[in-house]
Amino acid sequence: MITQETYRCWVISRLPGDTEPHFETSKAARAELRKMREEDEDHAAGAAVRKLDVPCWTVTCDGEYGLTIDEDEDGVIHFTSAEDAMRTVRNWEWRLIAHEHVLCPDDVLLPPSPAEQEAAGQLALPGVVP
Ligand SMILES: [Zn+2]
Ligand SMILES: [Zn+2]
Repeated sequence: MITQETYRCWVISRLPGDTEPHFETSKAARAELRKMREEDEDHAAGAAVRKLDVPCWTVTCDGEYGLTIDEDEDGVIHFTSAEDAMRTVRNWEWRLIAHEHVLCPDDVLLPPSPAEQEAAGQLALPGVVP
């Protein structure tokens, strides 16, 4: 499912060469920045914690494994827009099964259930004239 978060993330910005890690709370972001400064003061010297203007989008598999596109070595993967999320769904070869519902490659191997087909508009219901 492609969903928009209900909260606005806190990020650590101005880290040289890094993508911005996302956090749910300012406390968590500040704690991480503190840790970064302890580990590498120069690298984190100009970094700052800030709150994003709009809530992020996330992508979770609607199949039985319930995988989330959420983590790589840089931490949580969030998207700034639904379009951005869709682009990644395609790049990662996930399948869109219905409006904003997606399957990861592991679940794509399973045939879609009638309910999924119906949701995706692929199955004509008996007795219903389109
Ligand atoms: Zn985020
Ligand atoms: Zn899955």
